Amino acid sequence: MSESFEDKMKAMNDLSDEEMAKRIQEIKAICASFCGECPSYTGTGETELGFCMTDKSKVITEEKGCLCTSCPITSQMSLRWKYFCTLGSASELSEAEK
Ligand code: SF4
Ligand code: SF4
Repeated sequence: MSESFEDKMKAMNDLSDEEMAKRIQEIKAICASFCGECPSYTGTGETELGFCMTDKSKVITEEKGCLCTSCPITSQMSLRWKYFCTLGSASELSEAEK
């Protein structure tokens, strides 16, 4: 059986602060080609990335289309959601399902 987001997040939480920061940077670099190019993001002035792992955007308010399902982080982290920029991080969305 494939690992759930929650299993993968648990493993990620075992990383050192330094390793975690590096992983977040890697995710943001990939995110730049998806969030960074998506219709909800472009033109808003937003510069943050990696909303699935960090937090919702303080800038983006309108959902005009989401590219998260095409992003490799969705399969790498077994994400079940999208629109992290408006809805909050995957951890928050997971908690909300409990
Ligand atoms: S979470 Fe989805 S809608 Fe929001 S900026 Fe990223 S790709 Fe766009
Ligand atoms: S899943 Fe969405 S928010 Fe997360 S890195 Fe990919 S495009 Fe960005």
